[in-house]
Parts: sequence; structure tokens; C-alpha cells
Amino acid sequence: MSHNFFSLKDRFSVAQDTMAFVFQTSSDFTFRAGQYVEVFLENAHRDFSIASSPQDKGILMVATRMAGSAFKRSLAEVPLSTKAIIEGTFGDFTLHENKDKKAVFIAGGIGITPVRSIIKDATERKLAHKMTLIYSNRNPEGATFLQDLMDWEHENPNFKLCSRMTDKEGHVDADFVAKSAGDLANTTFYVVGSPGMVGAMTKILEDLKISRDDMRFEEFSGYN
Ligand SMILES: Cc1cc2nc3c(=O)[nH]c(=O)nc-3n(C[C@H](O)[C@H](O)[C@H](O)COP(=O)(O)OP(=O)(O)OC[C@H]3O[C@@H](n4cnc5c(N)ncnc54)[C@H](O)[C@@H]3O)c2cc1C
Repeated sequence: MSHNFFSLKDRFSVAQDTMAFVFQTSSDFTFRAGQYVEVFLENAHRDFSIASSPQDKGILMVATRMAGSAFKRSLAEVPLSTKAIIEGTFGDFTLHENKDKKAVFIAGGIGITPVRSIIKDATERKLAHKMTLIYSNRNPEGATFLQDLMDWEHENPNFKLCSRMTDKEGHVDADFVAKSAGDLANTTFYVVGSPGMVGAMTKILEDLKISRDDMRFEEFSGYN
């Protein structure tokens, strides 16, 4: 685990009430797609999954819902070039190595961040893994990085995007998971989002008789 001082290089909106923050990294900073860092600013800190890809050299991007906490206000208001302490990287919510095993990601809302990193990285490195993303949001305005994902679906023949807008279509259910995933055998399921969302999706996977050995989780504690 390393302890870095990286300066805030850029910030911009990526969906309704959602911002991305880009930090300039050192040349020796490396991570695996899907990992997270701890960002310290003005005596407070939060965990954020890295949304950029390891192929994006010299930068690290995180994205978050601007829910109004003092920490996030600071991130939005400090001058560019302010240095933050970035600890990490942490976590093993990373793509399995066996390219003959499918990956099905189920991401809720801002839970898309580590999945964006994995899919961007896999597309850039032309990995042979078959990947499906079930991406659930209330509406298109709040669907972070949706355009990127649609672009990669065109670019990468191994990647399929199944988005679900819950205001109009209702929550993701077992039927939607089964139809989107296709053959459920020989698949690793990656579930990421709020603890409530992860719990609900785990129950669906259990109902579909998916083994726990084939499930991986990242819970964004701090969200309901
Ligand atoms: C591995 C991991 C990856 C994450 N990745 C992202 C990401 O990519 N984007 C994103 O927006 N959020 C991510 N989160 C959640 C993030 O760390 C914040 O908790 C969340 O954004 C809410 O922050 P806030 O300042 O709006 O909440 P606040 O309103 O300040 O906090 C809400 C409540 O949660 C508590 N809390 C805050 N952080 C944590 C925590 N980490 N664990 C337990 N309790 C906490 C606070 O004390 C408070 O009671 C991640 C969390 C984890 C554990």
C-alpha cells in the first residue's frame, strides 16, 4: 500500500449530481482495474473506486454522487492543483484471469466506477473475456458514463451492455438477470453498488442457483 500526494488536475460533471475528479499521478503509480483508493482532503477521507483504466497513464479518475457532505463540497471547491493524499490501492474486485469464463457485472448507479475501469481496460487490451454489464439507474440523466459504455459496446465485440431505467422499467429482477446473462454456467458475477442493492442482487443470484464461489462483491458503504 502506498501513500501519495497527487494534485487535482480536473473535475467535471459526468451525470446529474455526479462529478468526476482527475488526479495527476506519479509515473510509478500502478493499479489493477477495479481497485479503489482512499482520498484524504482537509482532515476527512472517503474510499473511491478508480474509474479510469490502468492504460490512462499519469492520471487517476474517481467519480461520485455529490450528496452534499462537507468532504464532497471540499472536493468540488478546492482550487485545481490542490494536493490530496491518496492511499492505496486496495481491493480485489478485479477481472478473473481465465478468458474462457464469462463475466457478468451488475452495477447500481455510481457502482459503475470500478466496472468502467475494468471494461475500458479490457477493451483497450483487447482481452478475450466475454463480458455483460447489467447497469441499473433511475433514469438516463443519472446514468454515469453511459455514453462511454455504449461506445465500448460498439468497439468491443466481447462486451454487451444491458441497461435498465428503473423509474420506467422497475427494478432489476431475476428474469432480467437471466435474460441478460444468457447461459448462467461458467460465469463469474460481479455485483457492485450500495449495500441495499448488493443485498438484493445477491438474493436474486441465489434464487437463480448461482454458487457463492461464482459471485464477487464490492459494497459502497456510506450509501443506503
Ligand atoms: C470499496 C469502496 C469503494 C467506493 N467507491 C465509491 C465510488 O467510486 N464513488 C462513490 O461515490 N462512493 C464510493 N464509495 C462510498 C464512499 O466512500 C462514500 O461513503 C459515499 O460516497 C458517501 O459519501 P458522502 O460524503 O456523501 O457521505 P456522508 O453523508 O458524509 O456519509 C454518510 C454516512 O456514511 C458514513 N460513511 C462514509 N463513508 C463511509 C465508509 N467508507 N464506510 C462506512 N461508513 C461510511 C458517514 O460517517 C455517514 O454516517 C465507496 C466505498 C467503498 C467501501
